[in-house]
Amino acid sequence: MIKYIDFDSLHNENLRTEALEIFSEIMKNNSFVDGPYNKQFENDFAKLQGAKICRLVANGTDALEISLLVHGIERGDHVAVPGITFYATAEAILNVGAVPVFVDVDPETGLACPESFKKICDRFEIKAFMSVHIYGLPADIPTLNKIAVEKDIPVIEDAAQACGAFINGKPIGASGNLTTFSFYPTKNLGAMGDAGAILCETEEQAHKIDQIRNHGRGSDGKVMGRNSRCDHFQAAVLCLKMKQIEAQNDQRKAAAKRYHEGLSRNEIFKLLPSKYLETSSFHIYPIRFETSELRQKFQDHMKEVGIGTSNFYMKALSQEPALSHFQGEKENAEKFATTVAGLPMHAFLTEEHTNEVIQHALSFKA
Ligand SMILES: *Cc1c(COP(=O)(O)O)cnc(C)c1O
Repeated sequence: MIKYIDFDSLHNENLRTEALEIFSEIMKNNSFVDGPYNKQFENDFAKLQGAKICRLVANGTDALEISLLVHGIERGDHVAVPGITFYATAEAILNVGAVPVFVDVDPETGLACPESFKKICDRFEIKAFMSVHIYGLPADIPTLNKIAVEKDIPVIEDAAQACGAFINGKPIGASGNLTTFSFYPTKNLGAMGDAGAILCETEEQAHKIDQIRNHGRGSDGKVMGRNSRCDHFQAAVLCLKMKQIEAQNDQRKAAAKRYHEGLSRNEIFKLLPSKYLETSSFHIYPIRFETSELRQKFQDHMKEVGIGTSNFYMKALSQEPALSHFQGEKENAEKFATTVAGLPMHAFLTEEHTNEVIQHALSFKA
């Protein structure tokens, strides 16, 4: 039996003991929100990701919504978004009253296709682009930014799955775009509850985030904000778990390389272009199939031998009932969503584990 993710190893006895000591200290000091661990994490995480400033917020969806507000996105504005993402990306657009417009994806990776982005900018009056580093694969930010600069629109990077991914040798977050993270427990770097963050470049942006995340405080009543504070316990957990994140991301990468090498022996599996083996954070290890029937047969086969696989995500945004009436380009995204599956992926996959997965996968007959 190989689990899809492994919380028991992640939150092992050592980590639990350390966490309990910190929780006890926080309770003694009655410092429940915005304590010293919040500051420490914001400083350290900005450094890790190569950004100037980091601000913690309550979750990854809030991080996206607040980023849209920082860029002045308003009711009725059109915001471009790739068709392959977790629907929270679209939710954030809807929650600020804006209108999502779908950008089609690269058929091999599910990442936003720059040509499609350009076409969407010509067809609609786009006010911002929400780029997504889906599965931890780095989107082509240099090209996307270039198009966005020509059209004079901001790019926001949804890096909820991409802590540990790199673009041109630099970590995600170093691009200068507002970049958002989720620390939901299943992400590469996870809290023990909800938390999120925004990376930004200027004090002015950070100041806006400070106001919005805490009821407009500090604006003399000029800004109405919301509550999107990150509690001190979660910040403390993040400080603790951050010490291991680079080593853990390396282990994901090593497991992904073993999968890639092993599975390339069977042409049924359509694997990622190998350049991503060095640059993805491997939140998910995706493989594609020719048809959705073949994917289903493969997943049934793996389930029978006790190996967890998962569909991320069964549908493109344009196939979700609540979103299907929105416009844009969606052909590749809809095909991609119905033919991709994820193999077990976490930082504690041993060579034995990956060998077992590979062996069972190779025994699959179409
Ligand atoms: C997890 C995730 C989010 C949302 O994060 P929450 O912390 O659950 O609000 C947004 N976008 C993507 C791509 C995600 O994977």
